[in-house]
Amino acid sequence: MTLTEKILARAAGKTSVQAGDNIWVNADVLMTHDVCGPGTIGVFKREFGQAAKVWDKNKIVIIPDHYIFTADSKSNRNVDILRDFSREQGIEYFYDVIDDSNGHWVFDAAKGNMKRQYGSRYAGVCHTALPAKGHTRPGEILFGTDSHTCMAGAFNQFATGIGNTDAGFVMGTGKLLIKVPETMHFRLEGKLQPGVMAKDIILHCIGEIGFDGATYRAMQFDGEGALNLSIDDRMTIANMAIEAGGKNAMFEFDSRTAEYVDARVKLNGTKSTYEPVARDKNEKFVYELVVDLSKLEPTVACHPDPGQRKKAKDMDMKLDRAYVGSCTGGKTSDFVEFARVLRGKKVVIDTFGVPATPDIVNDLQSTYWGHSTIWQILVDAGVQMTENAGCAACLGGPVDTFGRINKSGIKCISATNRNFPGRMGDKESQVFLASPMTVAASALTGKVTDPREYLGN
Ligand code: SF4
Repeated sequence: MTLTEKILARAAGKTSVQAGDNIWVNADVLMTHDVCGPGTIGVFKREFGQAAKVWDKNKIVIIPDHYIFTADSKSNRNVDILRDFSREQGIEYFYDVIDDSNGHWVFDAAKGNMKRQYGSRYAGVCHTALPAKGHTRPGEILFGTDSHTCMAGAFNQFATGIGNTDAGFVMGTGKLLIKVPETMHFRLEGKLQPGVMAKDIILHCIGEIGFDGATYRAMQFDGEGALNLSIDDRMTIANMAIEAGGKNAMFEFDSRTAEYVDARVKLNGTKSTYEPVARDKNEKFVYELVVDLSKLEPTVACHPDPGQRKKAKDMDMKLDRAYVGSCTGGKTSDFVEFARVLRGKKVVIDTFGVPATPDIVNDLQSTYWGHSTIWQILVDAGVQMTENAGCAACLGGPVDTFGRINKSGIKCISATNRNFPGRMGDKESQVFLASPMTVAASALTGKVTDPREYLGN
């Protein structure tokens, strides 16, 4: 069996499964957020009754992150619905925006959107927060009401996005019927060259197979090249499996996985036991690609879908804005590489930076390069950095969302993960996906630029 099949078989209580089998699996964690949480709760109450209790209050994680820093009252109200439900059900892992468990969330637009407006429990973007808060464990099953739930495949976990109806059912029963996906094999060899990032790996792979090339398939990334990647890098790659239509992503378990997971479950006091799965000799793949990482170059996915692959060096396209943020591209390591290119220089187009989580804001504000923090280096370069960590303009959001594209015709280069028309706001705008380094180099020139031109400067 492949790694995905092994996890699914275990979760179904079977000794083996194969692609195409329909099986009932037990969930280890169900995650939801402010956009889909209220709908999921509605389905749960409708189907199981107003007084029903969730199947396991310790296995439900609720992370408001999407439409948070907006004066839109319906969006604010969604956070209150999650709070009321968490209190009613005794759900501990609710990462509220505010500290008052009986309060109401209201974004104060008069304070502006740069200074933090959240309490001590707020966790930021769900997919980045889940592992950081100790909710991802190798060998487990994670369902989330968000397509980028596949990011947790970085941890040797079966993680996939589901709709509100399925999530309402999982909330009541802890089970879900799953068709075992076929597995595509991406064997990574060698090492990335300077100026090339994990984002370039996944943009390369999606470019090979197209934005629907992995539809309802598992994408397994392994090999010596994968084992050389940091956990952040693996998360970037796993996150974008869905941009090729993938059901889930899967990485092997190794000492890096163990080190990260063990540290996070200890820090947060979450469940510390887990059982990873290892590769065996009899894996059956429907597709195989060997990627020599040393040959990859800075890559861009052009408008209008993540499969429109071009090399940055072959593009000469003017841009209007640049954006770094999201679960894919808003991690500390992403901002470090962004700052490495921008340090001591000035951007020439509107450039926005949105850390994925409050912890990342703290990292950037407390890490010094010489006399300046990384945060200050970015601000000095002209980047508009917000402390209000979250999804922000990654998916557009209400019109007052920080960094949202509100004008047609705007061309934006972005470290986010999705670029279908209208994704970051106006339907007539265009989004070009790239690594944080490529976004930085492009922000310095105002056109798509290969970041290797700035290495060592
Ligand atoms: S940052 Fe973007 S891709 Fe990630 S969960 Fe939020 S909206 Fe989705």
